[in-house]
Amino acid sequence: MATGTLTVDLDALVANWRALDALSGAGVETGACVKADGYGLGAARVARALAGAGVRRFFVAVAEEGAAIRQALGPGPEICVFSGHMRGDTDMIGDLDLTPMLNSVDQLTRHFEALPGHAFGVQLDTGMNRLGMEPAEWGAVREIALARGPALVMSHLACADEPRHEMNAKQLAVFREMVAGIEAPLSLAATGGILLGAEYHFDITRPGIGLYGGQPFAEARPVAQLSLPVIQTRPLAMGETVGYGNSFVAQRAATIATVSAGYADGLIRAMGGVAQLYHGPTPCPLAGRVSMDLLTVDVTDLPEVPQMLDILGPDQTVDSLAEAAGTIGYEILTALGARYTRRYLEPAA
Ligand SMILES: *Cc1c(COP(=O)(O)O)cnc(C)c1O
Repeated sequence: MATGTLTVDLDALVANWRALDALSGAGVETGACVKADGYGLGAARVARALAGAGVRRFFVAVAEEGAAIRQALGPGPEICVFSGHMRGDTDMIGDLDLTPMLNSVDQLTRHFEALPGHAFGVQLDTGMNRLGMEPAEWGAVREIALARGPALVMSHLACADEPRHEMNAKQLAVFREMVAGIEAPLSLAATGGILLGAEYHFDITRPGIGLYGGQPFAEARPVAQLSLPVIQTRPLAMGETVGYGNSFVAQRAATIATVSAGYADGLIRAMGGVAQLYHGPTPCPLAGRVSMDLLTVDVTDLPEVPQMLDILGPDQTVDSLAEAAGTIGYEILTALGARYTRRYLEPAA
């Protein structure tokens, strides 16, 4: 079998959720963000493990993702949709009991007309200028919306991964002003916001990346391990080249392993010549460019070439691989391709 194995440690996932939950007070509910197929790790399995650990509120980007989570979890947990109530979403929102976070007066009108009495939340823009109602817009519809009892009033921080960034306090102040006197549950913090401290927590938090083992939650347990099969190995004489563009030139007699995974599997081209694969604790550098389905790896220093090499594991986390590729852990995770065999380690009871 030439497909790689992506092992998802659901016990570590649940432990990360509990650790993030423990960072906020007893009165704060910790939700879970499972958008983009559970950050690439499999939304249904991730959501079921988290629901088993006590998560009652899930967040997704689009209604279709919400539908998949409802199918995985059944009735009960609240599923909040960040993109709100889009044209064409009414049946899904209504039939599957999704809670749209209404982002504009247009969405508010659509929702109240199409599904009067159905649950909704409101998303406010406190300065990120991406999703949500601006202060003036909110001022105009605030009383109408509040009279219908929103399940949640939320906003999102632009710079929460930089604790000292002045934007955090600025957005906090704007949020406080926009929600003054509101009795509905409030939410401002994702992973970064949880780490900023209690004043950012309000009633509900929405961690994503921290659950999946990524920065800025430094204490997170790694959740994803990725092992790739070696298809063949070959000896190289000094001066021979490897791969497209001859970008690797052997500086010594070398052994090259050809490994099954490439940029079509989310191992982006920018990793070429920088990232490493691992056999246990021993690093084996990528030799030459990343191709669509294959990596070539310098395994000269291994006494014996194993059947599999790891590209995500204890010695190379999602964030260290991201750094080698000039990106962030979020992008590495959500790019993980569809060809891997996904294997799930169940949470300890
Ligand atoms: C993605 C997202 C989250 C989760 O963010 P993390 O940084 O992954 O914890 C929370 N809220 C909103 C609005 C988001 O878009």
